Amino acid sequence: MEETALRFFNTMTRKLEIFESQEVDHARLYTCGPTVYNYAHIGNLRTFLFEDVLRRTLQLFGYRVTQVMNLTDIDDKTILGASQAGVTLREFTDPFVEAFFEDMKTLRAQPAEHYPRATDFIPQMTELVQRLEAEGHAYRSEGSIYYSISTFPGYGKLSGVRPEANLAGARVDSEEYEKENARDFVLWKGARENEPSWDTPIGPGRPGWHLECSAMSMALLGDSFDIHTGGTDNIFPHHENEIAQSEGATGKIFARYWLHAEHLIVEGEKMAKSKGNFFTLRDLLDRGHDPLAIRYLLISVPYRQKLNFTFDGLHAADQAIERIANTLRRLQHSPPSDGDGDLGAEAVEAFGSEFRDALGDDLNTARALAALHTLLRQVNTALDGGGISAAVRDELDAAFAMADNVLDIFPPSASDAASDDEEIERLVAERCEARKTRDFKRADEIRDRLAELGVVVEDTPHGAVWHRKS
Ligand SMILES: [Zn+2]
Repeated sequence: MEETALRFFNTMTRKLEIFESQEVDHARLYTCGPTVYNYAHIGNLRTFLFEDVLRRTLQLFGYRVTQVMNLTDIDDKTILGASQAGVTLREFTDPFVEAFFEDMKTLRAQPAEHYPRATDFIPQMTELVQRLEAEGHAYRSEGSIYYSISTFPGYGKLSGVRPEANLAGARVDSEEYEKENARDFVLWKGARENEPSWDTPIGPGRPGWHLECSAMSMALLGDSFDIHTGGTDNIFPHHENEIAQSEGATGKIFARYWLHAEHLIVEGEKMAKSKGNFFTLRDLLDRGHDPLAIRYLLISVPYRQKLNFTFDGLHAADQAIERIANTLRRLQHSPPSDGDGDLGAEAVEAFGSEFRDALGDDLNTARALAALHTLLRQVNTALDGGGISAAVRDELDAAFAMADNVLDIFPPSASDAASDDEEIERLVAERCEARKTRDFKRADEIRDRLAELGVVVEDTPHGAVWHRKS
């Protein structure tokens, strides 16, 4: 069988392309990280989990991954937050950095290899500005330094936003602006009162947000790397400006593939604090939701589609997680069949190639999950009937391990849940014993006790199996 290729939709070319890394078996990836001025909301988290699925899919296809995710700890928002709180920038941002790492861990995201903080890379940023000045892309005005977009013919190639000729020299100081406003943007902001600033060879001041990502990605991944990701709202101006800065300085292609995650909406509406439909991970955990179900829901829709986050959807994700856990537990506790059993190795193999092909198809997580649920149904049907042979179980173990390496939605490993499971196992065995000795009263008592623990016992031709009620 032919190995499926890994394909990504590249925002730059607007085409599905086969991924080829610049270095053999090594994928280098830059992902725009959080601005640490508040807790990440579920829209941000959707993007970060898309990037988690991306890095795990690269691993599935045999790549070693070097991922850089920056922490924006100096920009308009962090400066404003620190000044309102009356603390230093570090004092203000540190707790949000901690909270971000905690959230990512709760959602089982694999850590990136590097988390550079912008304030630790000021020398690399000023050096990049010097190169841009030398190449004729930058000019000074009122203490700040701006990028002259008319000097970079490729400006607009990612977003399709072409600057209007008659706007040459029009400048913008704020870091986020609309598509109608392609303007010369600020690289280095001159020192102002009540703002943190650094004394540097290009003068006193602080970096603009766009400059930070260009400097940190090139410092850690080199002038040219494989993949750059973010949310669709990063395409313009942030990523367009990164390209102008990096390619303007080096003359080389900055990133080969650009992947962007679509927005998340809540119950069909744009998320907004004013509408009361704005959620952080903490908000959902406080309401008693399971982080595993949140992860499931956030990765279940392919990243280029809008995700409509609903509480019905979260409930369905809960049930899906429960179904997976029950089937895995049931399989673990049923003895292998003596003969060939009712599940063939071909079914497991078909799952493996469909799963891989789905993720290779621009990370189609919906297809990958559908394949997993099909396999789980086949497992249940086989366990209801003639069972599953030891040989096919080995295949299944390998297939489930592969799926979980990418999706990471399986229940905590047996060792984590051991104490609870052990007690249940003991009761199930005791009930079995009672039935053997025809002590049905005792057997029923134990069944009731198990029901209290949320456990259902079924008597099958292969002995008693148990699962948790969903
Ligand atoms: Zn960025």
